[in-house]
Amino acid sequence: MPSIFTKIANGDIPSYKIAESEKYYAFLDINPVAKGHTLVIPKMEVDDIFELDDETLMGLHLFSKGVAHAIKKTIPCLRIGTTVIGLEVPHAHIHLIPINGVHDIDFKKPKLDYTKEEFQDIAAKIAANYNS
Ligand code: AMP
Repeated sequence: MPSIFTKIANGDIPSYKIAESEKYYAFLDINPVAKGHTLVIPKMEVDDIFELDDETLMGLHLFSKGVAHAIKKTIPCLRIGTTVIGLEVPHAHIHLIPINGVHDIDFKKPKLDYTKEEFQDIAAKIAANYNS
């Protein structure tokens, strides 16, 4: 069974896409802890990020760097926080989260609620900055 993130990368289920390359895919988290909370995945389906081969792990971070710059240009914040959790979806991914303080990266807080149109608008603005 392909993971939910493989289905997203293949376009079999929808996502709020930010950016894509041959090996990587970035999209908005649907239960964001902050506006612009983004997930970056390798298209290669591996559960634990630290089981990725070195080249894919390095590539994932380099791809995340470009996405982080685009988020920073779009969402007013001090930093783009990064975290790896991986307890819910068994497909390696990096969380990129705009933060103004450590409290903004608290996964126990109630998640933000956006409409489909709001998610689309956020994704389109970050994607435009990624491509510029
Ligand atoms: P974790 O595996 O613990 O890092 O958490 C997985 C993350 O993926 C959570 O923040 C979820 O909100 C997010 N997530 C799960 N399904 C989807 C989906 N279909 N589209 C976007 N984000 C998702």
